[in-house]
Amino acid sequence: TTTKPAYDAIKYKTPTGSQLNCKGWVQEAALRMLLNNLNPDVAEKPDELIVYGGRGKAARNFEALDKIIAALKILENDESLLIQSGKPVGILKTHENAPRVLISNSQLVPNWANWKHFDELEKKGLMMFGQMTAGSWIYIGSQGIVQGTYETYAAVADKHFSGSAQSSLRRGGQGSLRGTLNVTAGLGGMGGAQPLAITMNEGVALIAEVEEWRIDKRLQTKYLDEKYTDIDEAIDQAVRYKAEGVSKSIGVLCNAVHLLERLIERNIIPDTLTDQTSAHDPLIGYWPHEMSYEQAKILREENPEQYIEYAYRSMFRHVDLMLQLMDKGAITFDYGNNIRARAREYMEKTNSQFTTQHSPFDFPGFVPAYIRPLFCEGKGPFRWAALSGDPNDIAATDEVIANMFPENKSLQRWLKLAKEKIAFQGLPARICWLGQGEREKAGLAFNDLVKTGRVKAPIVIGRDHLDTGSVASPNRETEAMMDGSDAVADWPLLNALLNTAGGASWVSLHHGGGVGMGYSIHAGMVIVADGTDAAAARLSRVLRNDPGIGVIRHADAGYEAAKETAKAHHLDLDERLN
Ligand code: NAD
Repeated sequence: TTTKPAYDAIKYKTPTGSQLNCKGWVQEAALRMLLNNLNPDVAEKPDELIVYGGRGKAARNFEALDKIIAALKILENDESLLIQSGKPVGILKTHENAPRVLISNSQLVPNWANWKHFDELEKKGLMMFGQMTAGSWIYIGSQGIVQGTYETYAAVADKHFSGSAQSSLRRGGQGSLRGTLNVTAGLGGMGGAQPLAITMNEGVALIAEVEEWRIDKRLQTKYLDEKYTDIDEAIDQAVRYKAEGVSKSIGVLCNAVHLLERLIERNIIPDTLTDQTSAHDPLIGYWPHEMSYEQAKILREENPEQYIEYAYRSMFRHVDLMLQLMDKGAITFDYGNNIRARAREYMEKTNSQFTTQHSPFDFPGFVPAYIRPLFCEGKGPFRWAALSGDPNDIAATDEVIANMFPENKSLQRWLKLAKEKIAFQGLPARICWLGQGEREKAGLAFNDLVKTGRVKAPIVIGRDHLDTGSVASPNRETEAMMDGSDAVADWPLLNALLNTAGGASWVSLHHGGGVGMGYSIHAGMVIVADGTDAAAARLSRVLRNDPGIGVIRHADAGYEAAKETAKAHHLDLDERLN
């Protein structure tokens, strides 16, 4: 009898401290971040090597994982390891300032770029789904997305609820979610950040989740306050909290469709409405509502095609219900899981219509609605982790950031709340959105902390692929671009090439993250501050260029704010040419 391979907590424990297991700190950082991605405190399903986001994996299988670890340990400081969809395929001679690891995940030739073809290849062991930071080894648990979700809800509050609410926060804007009911679904790796992001903005969160262990995991990590198994009791409690102006989060064990149906039946209209189930992946990410969880699990194994049909019908119904609630006054937006496209695909295939006059894209995506102005300033999810494993090292970096940007009120508030409310998962880490100029400044300051021994080991710096210049995703990051360039994927390719040329520590190019096969191309970048002068030179190049191409991309599309940022930071080509 063969037993299924399983995650071995001893064998795959993340090394910490200041001793090297590899031939340099860059390789060591890659090793620690790969293993950190799979740490059970960080990853959603380590036994399947799944980190987050449906089936987003860090390595193709356990054999590939063992080989990657072995390869990183022998990798010289003038060589680069190649990873092809989660499997190491070669070590080649490059040079000291080149990336130590080059990664390509889930890339398919456009005409074959769909889940059906990908599923066949995955079954044959030829590919894996890298999501965004899973396959590029820079996932840091739910904190990574808390900041982005916090920023989004803060922007929602500023746009829709400023003035009316009695905020105790001193935000740049005046908005607060106090006294509002915020409904969503999905408490997975990233969706799990929603309850905390909403309560940090002083609102009430009511969140549907089908899997009980997910709710329990969010309770344990203090991202969620309360669990209910009865829909009506959960709604009653949420309505009470809203009336009292208390900020609390409630997870309710049910399908999102059932929660929304009940809200409509009871005529309880959420103030805001969105969704973070893994609708990007109809087979592995979304639970259909017409059967129990147990039945769904069996059907998924036994008849995947039928499962997918059920999932599509549910997603169509889900979007229909969201539109009905939008018509009744809920501020409704898509949170980057491609559920609108799923509804559209279903409608086209089955010739179905919504109960309303709407079409699926009648509610906006969160990027054009709330995030794009930040992208125009080169702002995006800058993050870092302490390779020592010591939380004091992150405290030292927090202090540097707080002192460096005293005028940035929302950043100061975030750092304070993050310290109070965020439990570290795996290696201690921090995230904050920094813009053009700021990232470079922060990276160099971290390098100084390492150089002067104020932290015990190097600091690894990275970002999400959801960023200003690193992604083409027409239903999400590049939805509704001013010049119609939503589907132009030259930008993420240039981003990966640029970061390779600039000397990032590892660079990755992925397909399908966030929104699924055929819908996105995106690039990742990680860079290590090891305290050396060579690292300082690399940090300065990469942390200027990486957001820089985002500013250039948005300026090229016609955004005034991006043109101004480009001028201010000497990124404007015409200025060079004149
Ligand atoms: P995940 O797979 O870890 O979690 C998804 C969760 O949804 C699971 O817990 C699952 O049980 C639950 N779920 C599925 N169908 C459901 C249903 N019908 N009703 C209630 N619960 C259901 O994924 P994740 O990492 O949390 O990401 C979720 C989705 O959101 C993905 O599609 C991801 O790409 C997207 N996302 C986008 C952003 C962004 O910044 N734009 C951020 C986070 C996540």
